[in-house]
Amino acid sequence: MTIQFSDLGLSQPVMQALDMQGYKEPTPIQAQAIPPVLEGRDLLGIAQTGTGKTAAFMLPSIDNLRKADNQIPFKSCRMLVLAPTRELAGQIAQSAKDYGALAGLKVHSIVGGTSVNKDRNKLHRGCDILVATPGRLLDLIDQKAFNLSGVEILILDEADQMLDLGFIHALRRISELVPSDRQTLFFSATMPKQIKELVGKYCHDPVTVSVTPAATTAERIDQYLFMVQQDEKQSLLELMLSEKHEVPGKFERVLIFTRTKHGADRIVKKLSQVGIPANAIHGNKSQPQRERALSEFKRAKTPILVATDVAARGIDIPGVSHVINYELPNVPEQYVHRIGRTARAGADGVAIAFCAEDERAYLKDINKQTDATFERLPLPDNFRAVVEGVGPTKPAPKQQRQRVNPKPRGASAERGDGAKGGRGRGGSKPGGPRRSGGPKQGGGQRRGGGRGRSQGSSQG
Ligand code: AMP
Repeated sequence: MTIQFSDLGLSQPVMQALDMQGYKEPTPIQAQAIPPVLEGRDLLGIAQTGTGKTAAFMLPSIDNLRKADNQIPFKSCRMLVLAPTRELAGQIAQSAKDYGALAGLKVHSIVGGTSVNKDRNKLHRGCDILVATPGRLLDLIDQKAFNLSGVEILILDEADQMLDLGFIHALRRISELVPSDRQTLFFSATMPKQIKELVGKYCHDPVTVSVTPAATTAERIDQYLFMVQQDEKQSLLELMLSEKHEVPGKFERVLIFTRTKHGADRIVKKLSQVGIPANAIHGNKSQPQRERALSEFKRAKTPILVATDVAARGIDIPGVSHVINYELPNVPEQYVHRIGRTARAGADGVAIAFCAEDERAYLKDINKQTDATFERLPLPDNFRAVVEGVGPTKPAPKQQRQRVNPKPRGASAERGDGAKGGRGRGGSKPGGPRRSGGPKQGGGQRRGGGRGRSQGSSQG
């Protein structure tokens, strides 16, 4: 029998908010986490974005705050949520407002790259729920504009990402500043040694809930692979996005990953030179630039977004049809996070990896350490000539697609380019991201997001 929200012990206002969100059933992490959190237990959640973990910690915590009914503390908060990036902090704050819409709680968020003075004023009277990036939070604490003495519930979200961003000292400091009798909910997608140490520091006898093995790629994502030279990647991308080379799935929103900020900007610039509008999102973009890029992507106004890992981690955008790994990540788990941006909330998704000769080792690691299996796609006809600018291309006939290494799902592929025991998405005709004016060669439409001096960073 499937577990219903009504089985979990949530209050009426929270149930109504869920109704307003249109959620019918709890996700596995919600079903497992909500009852012990309502009982006041500490929790260790091993889960990545897309599993419904935000609601898993937010819903019972809202109820716990309501039940305790304590006053809002001066220059402090009752519940503190720490998140690695501005984008994630913004999303969590929005969830707190959505889920707590009928609970009458005061929610604020503070992140780096915005005015500290405004934050200071905002926090003067305290709040029920504060969502913060660690850097900005400590800034305000050091300025005596805020303290953690009122914290009843502490949540660390994407703790492994916070460590990757160098927040270890900040987290150690914060652990000394929160009251010892608080409740702690600790979330991480992966469990390296340093995270285990932090869990020991923060949690008391936690209930552990793990929803997906740390490095398992989502079932509903069909994964494809192009073996392509580094200097051919941009041309291949352009041919795909302009529908001159057919790939599986219909383009709706396309998220492209690069390893570097510079690489992301370069792709956006080159796409714009052939009339394909795209935005970049990475740590060197100012907060307004990032917000605009995300908003245009969400509204499908500019449905192509080029991102680095840090910027994209935790971003929750429904309707990402394709994730393109323009460069393969050197950490296999990052691959899982990247492709997890598609196939969210029950949808299917397509992930396409570009692998150059010097990335074969990364591909092998991804195959070995995750359950990823790829179907290899052929390059366009005359491709080398197209790259060198001396010939046209025509779409590859469907039957030319070759399946390589047709092992069942889960089998590791020796050469790192195994086939997916797939459901044959290969035949579907791609559409194209909706673009104003169409993808004319040399159209050179500029996007606002790709310019501007570097300001701020994604860690608060
Ligand atoms: P998260 O893992 O918290 O980032 O959530 C991923 C997405 O799933 C968000 O868009 C949520 O709004 C959505 N979501 C969370 N819980 C549910 C649920 N029980 N039913 C349907 N969608 C949900």
